[in-house]
Amino acid sequence: MQRGSFQWMKSLNKSIILNEIRKNGPISRAQLAKDIKLTPPTVGSIVKELIEQGIVKESEQGTSQGGRKPTMLVINNEEFYIIGIDAGPSDLEFILSDLAGNIVTHVITEIELGITKEKFLSDLKQGITEILNKHSTIEEKIIGIGVAMHGVVDVDTGTSLFAPILNLRDIPIKEELEKEFNFTIKVENDARSLALAELWFGLDSDVSSMIAVNIGRGIGAGIIINGKLYRGENNIAGEIGHMTIDINGEKCQCGNNGCLQTVASGPAIIDKVKSELAKGTESMIGSLIDSDFPLSGELVHRAALQGDELAIKVLHDTGRFLGVGLTNLIHVFNPSKIIIGGGVSKAGNFILDPLKQTIAVSALTSETKGTVVVESKLGEHATAKGAVALLLVELFDVSNEEI
Ligand SMILES: [Zn+2]
Repeated sequence: MQRGSFQWMKSLNKSIILNEIRKNGPISRAQLAKDIKLTPPTVGSIVKELIEQGIVKESEQGTSQGGRKPTMLVINNEEFYIIGIDAGPSDLEFILSDLAGNIVTHVITEIELGITKEKFLSDLKQGITEILNKHSTIEEKIIGIGVAMHGVVDVDTGTSLFAPILNLRDIPIKEELEKEFNFTIKVENDARSLALAELWFGLDSDVSSMIAVNIGRGIGAGIIINGKLYRGENNIAGEIGHMTIDINGEKCQCGNNGCLQTVASGPAIIDKVKSELAKGTESMIGSLIDSDFPLSGELVHRAALQGDELAIKVLHDTGRFLGVGLTNLIHVFNPSKIIIGGGVSKAGNFILDPLKQTIAVSALTSETKGTVVVESKLGEHATAKGAVALLLVELFDVSNEEI
């Protein structure tokens, strides 16, 4: 589906109708007209166009309230596709997904150390081309490409302003991809994309205030307020990895001292274990390391599962620091729920228990002490699914437009 068709589908009345069918389908034409307060002929003609386009299909017959049974309408989720990309900092993950989030194809490319902007862009293009070549018969049915990029992103221009771990600035992702591919392109920060994935594909679509926190090599948050992503004035809302936890702490990549990222990220866990092992602290971790299993967060987790005291302590401390960071967030935004994702979250209760205990001790009121904190249930490709959701939100969501 070319860029023009996407624009055509998201015209105001079509978006309203699509969204209503998505939320309440199977639904009859008559009920649609009643719900969205458009005349039956208007609804009828727009539905006819949407059916011709293939995005809406007729489903089983509904219950009759006297007379002929009405034909029900549903979104044709399996008929259209979106390419979603989780971009960095370690690899580029490409998925082809249908509108319901079912993954058809998955491709992964490692990002080489010291990558240039040009190479980064050409790797992106190559991955997309690989998916398009594999699925050339359905190219017409791809409605767009979403990119979930680590670091600070200008969503209006689709530019990566600063990708700290790759140490790259001002990558014109949207502009370059639009030159190469005739699809609608959306670019967003990865943690915010993860938050959208939770909102769209997770079990919590009715949660209006929620924060999704991605804890991996870096730490970032996607903040949802009143069902909408909050980006802030200059696109840096949610950069909680650079929230200062200890002004006398270690130097961070950003130049400040004692950022949350320096005490609670994947690399911070590894650094702490390394320095304890160097001091001679007793642990089985040393014996687990070999050429196949270098020191990693996963290995520390394995040691913790076997009862290793050092591993358990390091994960516990990480959870406490995260708890301090999240308590700060609770005091600023007071969300109803916090969802934890990313590599570090795989350590599960070794991290979650001390994290929750810290919030229970430090948050100001009894309600906020019990703020719900849960692991993401979206699995391995959560952020790439968030990149898919960037297009879905645009296609279905009408609340940003004037009605
Ligand atoms: Zn920092």
